[in-house]
Amino acid sequence: MTAGDSGAPAAGSPAAGFFWHERCFWHDPGAIGVFSAPGEFLQPQPASESPESKRRLKNLLEVSGLIDELEVRKPPAATRTDLERFHTPRYLDALEAGDRGRGGNGGDCAPYMPGSLAAARHSAGLAIAAVEAVATGGLANAYALCRPPGHHAEADRGRGFCLLGNIPVAVRRARALGQVGRVAILDWDVHHGNGQQAAFHDDPEVFTVSLHQAGNYPLETGFFDEQGTGAGLGTNLNLPLPPGCGLGAYDYAMTRLVLPAIEAFAPELIVVACGYDACAKDPLGKMLLNSDAFAAMTRQVMTLAASVSQGRLVVVHEGGYSEGYAPLCGHAVIQALAGSAITVPDPQNDEIAAWAYQALQPHQRALIDGWRDAWAAAGRLR
Ligand code: ZN
Repeated sequence: MTAGDSGAPAAGSPAAGFFWHERCFWHDPGAIGVFSAPGEFLQPQPASESPESKRRLKNLLEVSGLIDELEVRKPPAATRTDLERFHTPRYLDALEAGDRGRGGNGGDCAPYMPGSLAAARHSAGLAIAAVEAVATGGLANAYALCRPPGHHAEADRGRGFCLLGNIPVAVRRARALGQVGRVAILDWDVHHGNGQQAAFHDDPEVFTVSLHQAGNYPLETGFFDEQGTGAGLGTNLNLPLPPGCGLGAYDYAMTRLVLPAIEAFAPELIVVACGYDACAKDPLGKMLLNSDAFAAMTRQVMTLAASVSQGRLVVVHEGGYSEGYAPLCGHAVIQALAGSAITVPDPQNDEIAAWAYQALQPHQRALIDGWRDAWAAAGRLR
């Protein structure tokens, strides 16, 4: 694909893909309550990771008409062979046993009920098909509406609402099949992308970048000094941002370090782990983004992709727990991917942008400049 400076697809380019499956919305985390098991003093309530934020995004695409400008695909579920490229057989066996029984917990805060494994396999299947279609040139770019999310899942356990590592499974498969070489994975979910980091920490061919709220979840990972190991040293970049980062801080982090670092790595494909929990309305994150910010980051990555990876870009849905606001952010991202004129009004966008402390703050600048200087000093920027 070719693209202009705006990052928008050029006329005549293949369409933007939209990968989804109704079964993904049927994953049931069970009686988890908002963030932990209901108890004597925690009134039962739907889980934070409910189908609503994702289903409402799909519905909004239908209502706005944007979905009619997308190449819509409903691919098959991931196979056991696909999953074993990342997950251990023992973990997959345990998931299958739980799914046949009464459900269970994939590990650390990854509860599921019977039927959830089928949803999780379909979720991974969306990422697989989206990566394959873009890597092999069938689509300009693609959005995969994955649920359950995947970026916390590790090889031998689920974590943080994630059962299967959608992106690691998809990227490992595409690389194993020779569909793509170097891959950069950018995770802007408000939580650390520990799953990708763990999957590729010693792989020099896959660059993992995570922009997240410091010390939110998981507590023990996501620090700047985690930079990969062995041959993969220098191919993991964490930006653990302080709570309260808004439009200025995210733009500065992207332009000052994230985008130059990915550009220097020169990937053949960029995959975004796209959570919306850095939005100002999210119950689990403490950041301040609006829908325009997610669209702007998408356009920034599209422009970079146009120069380094022939436009090849896959966006995979991760977290985002504001049922009302995440769909508006998602629509803005997909509109940008498609280069579409179809927009929906975001009644909160301008008010959020006008909040105090949206501009880059001195302590945020100091942190980002420090990381940039260290990354450059290691010879990892052009
Ligand atoms: Zn998250």
